[in-house]
Amino acid sequence: MPRARREPTTAIAAAGEAPIRSLPGVGDRLARTLAERGLECLQDLWLWLPRGYEDRTRITAIRDLRPGEPVQVEGRVLAVERGFRYRPMLRVAIADDSQATLVLRFFHFRAAQAAQFQPGSRVRCFGTARPGQHGLEIVHPSYRVLDDAADDALAGTLDPVYPAIEGIAAASLRKWIALALQRLPEADALELLPPAVLAPLGLPTLRDALLTVHRPPPEADLAALLAGRHPAQRRLVIEELLAHQVSLGRQRIRLQAQGAPPLPAQSSLVDALLASLPFHLTAAQQRVFAQVRDDVARPHPMLRLVQGDVGSGKTVVAALAALLAVQQGHQAALMAPTELLAEQHLANLRGWLEPLGVRVDWLAGKLTGKARAKALAAVADGSAQVVVGTHALMQEGVVFHDLALAIVDEQHRFGVHQRLALRDKGAGAEGGRVPHQLVMTATPIPRTLAMSAYADLDVSAIDELPPGRSPVTTVALSNERRGELVERIRAACADGRQAYWVCTLIDDSDEVVAQAAQTTFEALTAALPDIRIALVHGRLKPKDKQAAMEAFKRGDTDLLVATTVIEVGVDIPNASLMVIENAERLGLAQLHQLRGRVGRGSARSSCVLLYQPLLSQMARQRLDTLRQTNDGFVIAEKDLELRGPGELLGTRQTGLAAFRVADLMRDADLLPQVQAIARQLLAEDPRRADAIVARWVGGAARYASA
Ligand code: ADP
Ligand code: MG
Repeated sequence: MPRARREPTTAIAAAGEAPIRSLPGVGDRLARTLAERGLECLQDLWLWLPRGYEDRTRITAIRDLRPGEPVQVEGRVLAVERGFRYRPMLRVAIADDSQATLVLRFFHFRAAQAAQFQPGSRVRCFGTARPGQHGLEIVHPSYRVLDDAADDALAGTLDPVYPAIEGIAAASLRKWIALALQRLPEADALELLPPAVLAPLGLPTLRDALLTVHRPPPEADLAALLAGRHPAQRRLVIEELLAHQVSLGRQRIRLQAQGAPPLPAQSSLVDALLASLPFHLTAAQQRVFAQVRDDVARPHPMLRLVQGDVGSGKTVVAALAALLAVQQGHQAALMAPTELLAEQHLANLRGWLEPLGVRVDWLAGKLTGKARAKALAAVADGSAQVVVGTHALMQEGVVFHDLALAIVDEQHRFGVHQRLALRDKGAGAEGGRVPHQLVMTATPIPRTLAMSAYADLDVSAIDELPPGRSPVTTVALSNERRGELVERIRAACADGRQAYWVCTLIDDSDEVVAQAAQTTFEALTAALPDIRIALVHGRLKPKDKQAAMEAFKRGDTDLLVATTVIEVGVDIPNASLMVIENAERLGLAQLHQLRGRVGRGSARSSCVLLYQPLLSQMARQRLDTLRQTNDGFVIAEKDLELRGPGELLGTRQTGLAAFRVADLMRDADLLPQVQAIARQLLAEDPRRADAIVARWVGGAARYASA
């Protein structure tokens, strides 16, 4: 999306604000293509940073090739084969002095290209070797046929590889960036970090850092550059992370400058609920609720994230917080990511709050017609004191009488924007008053990510499970042993235990998964005639879904065949056995969530991860991790390691993890320092701080704060 023209943020670095159009040779079309990717001024080109390097400074012997590693090789053509199996194909076998051969394979080529490869001619190519039919091969390498007489000196420096821009060839992009770099001003004119901040870091100036990463000099530490740990890269990482911290910090300052209804800590409703609960709060729940109480007593909005592993008891903390709002005659809303979970919250909250005389209403997408109109009216006139629902809560047309507390459960399932949308439902949001916000998540967020992605929130952790839970024993079982498993379920159910059988398929529609669940349901029904089996999936009518869940909860059925609709929040303490099909295809976080459905009562619970052999390396690691630990934090760290932060947070679309140079795993050690610098800058030189944000985040920051 093209960004709005930006005003020069400050006299500092004004050189970077010159439009790309001012470069010789840049025409309308190119400028438009670049603008579509947010590149409008020279600075944007300076900061279009290489995402990696190709090392053409040396030649790797074919014998030493390892699959998956990009390398340069050189050899003589042994044989050429042109074929038309399913499509045109060209295979060129080359060999070098190491006596090993390598196949270059092309699917798109011109006749002249094919003719270049004469047996005996010398070819230098660059690419990534993979195992092929006849040993290693490189598909579509970049290559050059070397003229025996010509100079074939190796490159002296690494070649930067830039993130591609559709409509611009890689070589032209390199050219435009090089041209823009010629207009890089002197170090002082470019620098936004004050000397007092920059000096102690012991890192190069921004100018030197940019020149080094775009055009690594021959003497640069190539290994460090390739690993992303070169001081020049660290310098850029610091500034980029700083930009993100500052923009989140700004958002927080802006939010906290607004007013929110202060909710006094003393509440007879809270006391009454605590007295009526069949359990005592754990120490962790008490601590977190005390933090919430302190927050909401202030006339500024609470912005708090509560993390707690599955089963740690977040819901009751949410209910207590809601009562603080209700006590003062305000409303509270609780939003959950799925209808099933929202329904459970509704049942829990009604069970706890209605005996205290508090009215709890329901608003979900499937609510239509009269029922919906009635609910909306109750929300609007304030007779609905607590409102539970799904995304439907945020829709237009939902008008709260006086929303003082917005609670979002399982935050990781929602985008940042959705979280903010509920906030905007606050009473008199126009009048500058916003509700307090409580965000809850069972996906433990590694500290480094929390610092970065949730820098606008205070974080508390419910780091203790209620007493009497027994850890879940987890085993991985090949699908070939399904028969034994069915026997085991028969025995367990005959013993009065209840079990889940979870059907999963990845990347498939509700319909396909529902079908798979149906098939499994039928097979299990046939195999286990004495067992009472029920089925729930996302395609069922809410009424039927709920009836099936209730029957299972009452113990009227023994085995529940389900899709991942039960992933979050489902709470049936008597269920103590879970089977997860195709476990090898699921991510760690999701498996941990699913497994969290058992081990909620005092019975010893187990989880069987059923997999299709053969397991990939990655899948094996995931299943091993689950077998070894029940600790959500350990699992989250492992998940981060295996998958990287973008996927973990599901924040690709929010731009949070879309860093140019920073890598939250690799650069985690810099975060505390960066946070300190961000605070200092915001306090001492906010204009400079904003200029850094404009430089690095530009349009994205405006989008996030819109
Ligand atoms: P989660 O944090 O995963 O959302 P829930 O709020 O669903 O966990 O709580 C899981 C179960 O534990 C619920 O049945 C809840 O009533 C129960 N529970 C919550 N707190 C306690 C406690 N302090 N002692 C015993 N049981 C508790
Ligand atoms: Mg929950």
